[in-house]
Amino acid sequence: MECEICGRKTDDLYVISVEGTQMLVCRACKHHGVFISKYRAKKTAQKKARKIEEETEIDVVEDYNERIRKARKEFGMEQEDLAKKVNEKLSVIKKIEQGKMKPPEKLAKKLEKLLKIELLQTVKREHIETKLKTGALTLGDIVKIKKK
Ligand SMILES: [Zn+2]
Repeated sequence: MECEICGRKTDDLYVISVEGTQMLVCRACKHHGVFISKYRAKKTAQKKARKIEEETEIDVVEDYNERIRKARKEFGMEQEDLAKKVNEKLSVIKKIEQGKMKPPEKLAKKLEKLLKIELLQTVKREHIETKLKTGALTLGDIVKIKKK
């Protein structure tokens, strides 16, 4: 950008009013008119995808039912024995072994200890959020950010 009075190239520009006409001038020329405001170059809003957080989540492995059944049999336990040992109803153990119900984390941990197997895995979830680099957020962006 250059000063409209002296032609000096600078980014430090001011909007002044010279006899009713707005001009963009440098710091040195600003006294030629009535100061209105500091000029801010309008940057084009750049969208930039930014990885804001990596969230880790604990999830039960896909083949949990097979792992449990196999381990239980290796320990020579019936479904009933297993149910008693982890303080669950037999129906819950049955559902789990049939793959109809994923054991909740707490139960999965008990089963892991008892049967010496691994049932839980850590799943990483990446959250990508789009933010306007300039900070000039549109209403839509603000709503999206507040929701998270
Ligand atoms: Zn100037």
